[in-house]
Amino acid sequence: MSILDRSNAPEIQRVRHELRQRILTVASVQNLTPHMIRITLTGPDLEGFVSLSPDDHIKVFITSLDGMSTRRDYTPRRYDPLAGTLLVDFVKHEGGPATAWACSAKPGDQLQIGGPRGSQVVTGQIDRWLLIGDETALPAIGRRVEELSAGVSVTSVVAVPEEGDEQVFATAAHHAAYWTHRSPEEANQADSLIAMLGQIEILDSTFVWIAAEANVAKSLRRYLLEERKVAPQWIKAAGYWVKGLVDASVKDVDGKR
Ligand SMILES: Cc1cc2nc3c(=O)[nH]c(=O)nc-3n(C[C@H](O)[C@H](O)[C@H](O)COP(=O)(O)OP(=O)(O)OC[C@H]3O[C@@H](n4cnc5c(N)ncnc54)[C@H](O)[C@@H]3O)c2cc1C
Repeated sequence: MSILDRSNAPEIQRVRHELRQRILTVASVQNLTPHMIRITLTGPDLEGFVSLSPDDHIKVFITSLDGMSTRRDYTPRRYDPLAGTLLVDFVKHEGGPATAWACSAKPGDQLQIGGPRGSQVVTGQIDRWLLIGDETALPAIGRRVEELSAGVSVTSVVAVPEEGDEQVFATAAHHAAYWTHRSPEEANQADSLIAMLGQIEILDSTFVWIAAEANVAKSLRRYLLEERKVAPQWIKAAGYWVKGLVDASVKDVDGKR
């Protein structure tokens, strides 16, 4: 079967969830890597939390000093119903209310979250996964890698600022991790990721998942379609943030899902 074969293409199943607002308490704060803060949230409101797909998102609500409320999208990195905890990983970047909140968070603080409102579950005969992204995609990539079963092959290609930002994921799957380093100022450039992808074979039945700065996500999708002849049904791409814009994303880069 050619990678252009569309007969076997995976599907994205949309599952809606009851939309609930929750007030959670910060249980711990960990400087996971130089550019990532892990916040462990807990509290009785977590009861009934549902997240079916690693690329789900919740809204976190931040109140600024002037009392204005704003919200941002974050990935439920790991929900443990037995421990009653939800992990959320915040990228440390130059500025923004969500980042500022995470940088000053301490045990006992409260955080209001909403969602996930729904999950997009990828179904079908997928033999391999190729996960591509930047540091904002790492929570979803880490979760996907950890949740895949034995016998599945997954390759991740991730751009981060420095070696210390690389993460190790425990998984039963066969995981090959490729990292490329570029400064935070170059996070809207796809060059280093495309150069790395050029060294990677993309076999049939590989589902490609992309999340990065919006221009990077668009460039990567174009490269995969035009240079690597991956069929569009085998790619899901999202712009998780837009350089220079606050609270901006392009959740569906191909505009079809
Ligand atoms: C579905 C989805 C899931 C996401 N999951 C996560 C997650 O788990 N962890 C996570 O950290 N982010 C995640 N993001 C990205 C996050 O929502 C944005 O980075 C958000 O803009 C951060 O809010 P802020 O208040 O810090 O900055 P904003 O107020 O939104 O932006 C302020 C300035 O910072 C810039 N900026 C925003 N994000 C970055 C960045 N990462 N690096 C450099 N400059 C930036 C903006 O362009 C703007 O100029 C996700 C986004 C989506 C759409």
